[in-house]
Amino acid sequence: MTTSPHDRVAEIEREGLEALAGTSDEAALDAWRVRVLGKSGTLTGVLRGLGELPPEDRKVLGAAANLAKNALEAALEERREALRRAALASVEADAIDVTLPGRPAPRGRLHPITQVRRQILDVFERLGFLVIEGPEVELDSYNFDSLRIPEHHPARDMWDTFWFDEEVDGKTPLLLRTHTSPMQVRFMETHEPPIRVAVPGRCYRYEATDATHEWMLEQVELLVIDEGVSMANLKGTLQEWARQMFGPSRKVMMRNSYFPFVEPGVEVAVDCFACPGDDPSCSVCRGSGWLELMGAGMVHRDIIEAQGYDPERYTGFAAGMGVERVAMVLLGVSDIRDFHLNDPRFLAQF
Ligand SMILES: [Zn+2]
Repeated sequence: MTTSPHDRVAEIEREGLEALAGTSDEAALDAWRVRVLGKSGTLTGVLRGLGELPPEDRKVLGAAANLAKNALEAALEERREALRRAALASVEADAIDVTLPGRPAPRGRLHPITQVRRQILDVFERLGFLVIEGPEVELDSYNFDSLRIPEHHPARDMWDTFWFDEEVDGKTPLLLRTHTSPMQVRFMETHEPPIRVAVPGRCYRYEATDATHEWMLEQVELLVIDEGVSMANLKGTLQEWARQMFGPSRKVMMRNSYFPFVEPGVEVAVDCFACPGDDPSCSVCRGSGWLELMGAGMVHRDIIEAQGYDPERYTGFAAGMGVERVAMVLLGVSDIRDFHLNDPRFLAQF
């Protein structure tokens, strides 16, 4: 006894659904599709054989075979989706497996400039300095006038300074401070000697950048005002700072220089620690044997008088150093621009 074409279709559908329920992955689904619905598949065979049937049977069986085909195709998609959901669920279950060893979390760190600024200030705090801060948006009167930098002074050239657009009485009095020195005046206005402060902070210069110049830089400013303060105190303080920062054998060299708010003014350098002092290829000193770190000097008598202090009784010194400059030396960085590129590969080294 042979199976009727109708029974054959019903059997293919039933067997197909059963086999489908036993598939467990994408490869098994593919194999199933080829076996049942592919070119030589069992159901395809029935559809191909329709042509040999009488027209009435062909019509009825064709409809049944197409229904079976649609049902099997729909079941295939349903099974595929069910397997995908099961796979996802198992990944999620793994993700909270508390017996797995923990993944190390990336650790944050302080920016190298922050590290070096803190190192600098630690030394000055041990030497008895009070650390204070001031505004980055400053009045030109504090940034320039009160520091003996009148309007015609080259340092006031607009190419060096970021000015704000707002005008007051035809002038633009607001700027981004070009140095931390305005805080000397702001602090003296509200305090009486003895004064011993260190002022860290960002400063801004409107200028082209290169390996040793940035438009934003950090400074640490020093101000000491007391009875009997002399150049010897200036030199001794900076020498002790350099020894604590760079090691006990560091030498400090001061040479004459000019800054409008000090008299006399000096540039302060430490002896090179990267070479014997005469290597022209040395990136730290370029063969000079010295590395300049800051400007300094005795606070100008005019400034002491302008604050209402007795210039016969009080004298003082001031200094301003570039934190990036110190960091380049301490960390061996040859391009100042690397510090603020925010490249984690660079920052992670420190
Ligand atoms: Zn050198």
